[in-house]
Amino acid sequence: MKIVSGVNNIKECEILSSISDEFYFGLKEVENHRKWYSFLNIKDTDEAEKLIKTAQSQRKKIYIAANETYDKTETSKAVEIIEKLIKKGLSGIILRDINLAEHFKNKTEIILSSTALVFNSNSLKFYKELTGLKRLVIPQHLKPEEQFFIKKIKDIEYEIFYFPDVYCSNIDGACLYHDFDGIIRKKTNCSYVFMSGKQKIKMAHPSAKKRFETIYNYYKLGANYIKTARDGTTEEKIKILKKIKTLISIMEKNPSKKVFYSCLKKYFNIYD
Ligand SMILES: [Zn+2]
Repeated sequence: MKIVSGVNNIKECEILSSISDEFYFGLKEVENHRKWYSFLNIKDTDEAEKLIKTAQSQRKKIYIAANETYDKTETSKAVEIIEKLIKKGLSGIILRDINLAEHFKNKTEIILSSTALVFNSNSLKFYKELTGLKRLVIPQHLKPEEQFFIKKIKDIEYEIFYFPDVYCSNIDGACLYHDFDGIIRKKTNCSYVFMSGKQKIKMAHPSAKKRFETIYNYYKLGANYIKTARDGTTEEKIKILKKIKTLISIMEKNPSKKVFYSCLKKYFNIYD
């Protein structure tokens, strides 16, 4: 299982290189699913070119997250910028917009973002025909038992999030709550309390153990990549990436569920 790290600047790319297999970033000029946060986006194309160069010098692939839908003007602008970055060595695009994808079909690697809201094999086939996608990022809330399409569609690789750290209780691709104050990400954002009449409703949030178990189950199903968010400081990211490395080395030993649970206690202090 390969590790994909979200990076916000060149220095971070250099520091995280020894514990990452690939990188991705957001760019201020191309709207993405963390558009509200300037610190999660590279400031301009020049800086993005330097970032790409840095990843290349570390022999790592690097992708841009352009995972929103765009109107005609926005699409033209995104196409122009991304074409420029591809010439500089960008490895591909994490996207959801069909117009953008059709433009880049067979021209670069296309990764279908979790924001595309692909929940079944027919929608994945639909996207594959239109976009020629190589990889699907599985929406966070989908459980492995719902992944009846995984490995059934030829030539597609699958990517999951590191759920102990990244988990939206709603449908992440359509969830506005992690962004709803427009300024600061709070841990409670995605567990926003809804009102139904006079009744309060809160979406379920699985325990840490369950979220680890989900990764184990996806690993068994053959998921190829695990990714981290762009959020957090570089120090926090290092800690998370080390945890992911430990987790992968545990899963590579093909443990039974029972042994896996005991490893969660031993290495992650997870009991329930
Ligand atoms: Zn959310």
